[in-house]
Amino acid sequence: MTDLILFWHRRDLRISDNVGLAKARARSPHLVGVFCLDPNILERDDVAPARVTYMIGCLQELQNRYEQAGTQLLIVQDDPAKALPKLATALEATAIYWNRDVEPYGRERDRTVAANLKEAGIEYQAFWDQILHHPKEISTNAGTPYTVYTPFWKNWITHDKAEPCPDLADAKGLDAAQQKTAEKVGVGPLPTAVDLGYGWDNPLVLEPGEWVAQTRLEHFCDGAIAEYQADRNLPALDGTSTLSPALKFGAIGIRTVWAAAQAVYNRSRSDETRDGVRTWQQELAWREFYQHVMYHFPELAEGPYRDTYKNFPWDNDEQRFDAWCQGKTGYPIVDAAMRQLNELGWMHNRCRMIVASFLTKDLIIDWRWGERYFMQLLIDGDLSANNGGWQWSASSGMDPKPLRIFNPASQSQKFDSEAEYIRQWLPEVRHLDTEMLVTGKIPKGDRDACDYPQPIVDHKQRQAQFKERYSAQKAQAKSS
Ligand SMILES: Cc1cc2nc3c(=O)[nH]c(=O)nc-3n(C[C@H](O)[C@H](O)[C@H](O)COP(=O)(O)OP(=O)(O)OC[C@H]3O[C@@H](n4cnc5c(N)ncnc54)[C@H](O)[C@@H]3O)c2cc1C
Repeated sequence: MTDLILFWHRRDLRISDNVGLAKARARSPHLVGVFCLDPNILERDDVAPARVTYMIGCLQELQNRYEQAGTQLLIVQDDPAKALPKLATALEATAIYWNRDVEPYGRERDRTVAANLKEAGIEYQAFWDQILHHPKEISTNAGTPYTVYTPFWKNWITHDKAEPCPDLADAKGLDAAQQKTAEKVGVGPLPTAVDLGYGWDNPLVLEPGEWVAQTRLEHFCDGAIAEYQADRNLPALDGTSTLSPALKFGAIGIRTVWAAAQAVYNRSRSDETRDGVRTWQQELAWREFYQHVMYHFPELAEGPYRDTYKNFPWDNDEQRFDAWCQGKTGYPIVDAAMRQLNELGWMHNRCRMIVASFLTKDLIIDWRWGERYFMQLLIDGDLSANNGGWQWSASSGMDPKPLRIFNPASQSQKFDSEAEYIRQWLPEVRHLDTEMLVTGKIPKGDRDACDYPQPIVDHKQRQAQFKERYSAQKAQAKSS
């Protein structure tokens, strides 16, 4: 077979609207997909069972889609730096194509893969796919990367957005002899998440695959997007898209997502709907902002952006951390949110901010503990968004407002005023008065009767302690 191209999938588990895959298909119909189950990722201690389950489900569907397009998706359980040159050499492939990543591990891995392919005499090409604008395309007047979201958004929204790419079709895969060759160099069947050691029996917030992601997008654009501006902050409602796992793994293309939202914007005559769409598009821009920031400042993956936080005197009390993880802090909104995370592998954005503020400002625990716990559970766990969200909440990141402390009671009063969300996730307190649940002012006798814990800290006191330490650190950082 001549001019065989391998397309290496990573976080782009789809055949539709995939830039690198469309380029590969435009060059040659002789094209097969490859996915490497990378032990460097799967053997880390922050892998979430829900995330692996979602990913394996996406790969199953992707294999079917490849078959429908006339070719195959090959699965390898090995380090791509070794496996890809071996496979490409054995199959006498002309080139390997892939889409770029922004994360430090992915970029380093890609450099190694590229070097090894070069040594083996195999051509490679990489493309930007997972974001609408590549990180060097959006910069300040001085040509530097943005470190503040609002000016980033104002610039980003003025740039034209690319149209979705054509789906993979009419491709030609490996013949029987080549399939045997591929098996000899490590290609095998797709394992289950359980085979990989990551069983997850609870429901997934989004079922895997392209078809479900596309359907969810259409459903959201036909309905909830119109009220998104008002509803997105109310965790008891189905007011957000829950597309985050699909965006994390690329089960849907970002150009497709953008075009669907923009179509609603263009055809709507209602200001409310247009505001809803714009607000949702701003969230897509947050996703992109954090990816750009991770690309330009990879050191964020390791530690805080602000000097004040470099040697912050965290308490790091393990018992309190366990109570937070288990949803047993005695603060109903915090506990409801943590139970949602533990049961669904997903948490509403408003609640992510509340629990992150509580961990860092009330429990005075290093935000990296929370960041890691989120990664161990989240179906959409994504280094850039998670790190960005945690550093924003801890006030250690690029947010221009230096100190942000959420009061759990005011947050519930504002965003869960009828305690519907609290009741949904904290069954033991469901029968208590709404006022008690929302304010957290639950008498000791009532707490004991339903085996619900006393508050593990006092919000007011801890807020004062945090501020004191923060001021001292700030003064120290200035003087050094
Ligand atoms: C502490 C903390 C940790 C977070 N960790 C993650 C994470 O690991 N993975 C993740 O995808 N999001 C993370 N977020 C952002 C946000 O909470 C989720 O993207 C959102 O809740 C997903 O639900 P949705 O798909 O219904 O979002 P929608 O409201 O429908 O938004 C659409 C899409 O925009 C993106 N998005 C929305 N809000 C943000 C945001 N603040 N930052 C970056 N992207 C955003 C997501 O891709 C999302 O799917 C985190 C936020 C915080 C405060």
